[in-house]
Amino acid sequence: MTQPEVCFELIGYPLAHSLSPRIHQAAIAALHILGSYRLAAISPQDFPSQVQNLLDRLRSNEIQGMNVTIPYKQAVLPYLDRLTRSAQVIGAVNLIYTQNGDLIGDNSDGDGFSKDLDSYNIGSPGLAYILGAGGSARAVAYALLTQGWDVQIHARRPEQSASLVDHFTKFLNPSEGTRLQSIPLDEKSFVNINQHPQLVVNTTPLGMHPNVNASPWPDKVMMPNHSFIYELIYNPPKTRLIQMALSAGLKTANGIGMLVEQAAISFERWTGKRAPRAAMFASVQEYSIR
Ligand code: NAP
Repeated sequence: MTQPEVCFELIGYPLAHSLSPRIHQAAIAALHILGSYRLAAISPQDFPSQVQNLLDRLRSNEIQGMNVTIPYKQAVLPYLDRLTRSAQVIGAVNLIYTQNGDLIGDNSDGDGFSKDLDSYNIGSPGLAYILGAGGSARAVAYALLTQGWDVQIHARRPEQSASLVDHFTKFLNPSEGTRLQSIPLDEKSFVNINQHPQLVVNTTPLGMHPNVNASPWPDKVMMPNHSFIYELIYNPPKTRLIQMALSAGLKTANGIGMLVEQAAISFERWTGKRAPRAAMFASVQEYSIR
């Protein structure tokens, strides 16, 4: 009997540089599944009609799963029937699947981050700094708080980090809520900080190609002793922040592991099969610094 062909779609704009097709095609090939992972680059003016059309095709099982990326992770929310708890708390969706005919919006960025971080065995939860307060900062904060970390959000716009903290406070239980603080991201506040974070996560785009000379960590401030530096950027694989951390003798990770892990979670949700992580990682090996 011939197996049915599966089709997954990624919506976003623009999508030319996305590594997701490579990672998912590697999984499809490794499991000898017939199928494809396609890019749906939808311009903002076409978003309402095209997203509806794709979601209708998902509901009718013409396609089997969808990922969502910038700039539609929040815009897609009103089109869905239900959200998972992580999508609700993070306030954004990057993964859509069907369950009993309903369209479910989920967020695998937080779990993808946790899964990758776990692979570095950095020890039990302590204090973490998150640099930046945008979409990925929410996913990382959710992941860390649910694992028992104390989290400080360092953002250049205090109103943005305060809004993140307010949003989270609505969803988290009181003990989780008190473990989240908002701090301004500037040189003065770094110098004044006397706590030593066990983990620093960069969620700003500072250092991303082509602005490879930028770093969110101020030049004049020493990097904290014994911190693990997790950089969400993976292009270039060794950002300026990672280079600074390595020069200070610190251990580091870049975001390629998170990208692969969130893809693996999506793949498992859509297919019910265990994702072939080794093949998925191998497909983007040139971004790895492990
Ligand atoms: P976002 O929603 O735009 O948030 C970016 C954050 O960085 C905002 O708080 C922004 O503040 C801050 N920021 C931007 N420029 C800054 C600067 N010059 N100085 C200080 N803060 C600055 O973006 P995002 O979706 O969170 O993505 C952020 C980065 O993470 C990107 O590089 C993205 O590629 C990467 N990422 C990686 C993965 C992965 O799987 N590895 C997943 C998601 C995202 P303002 O609002 O004030 O600009």
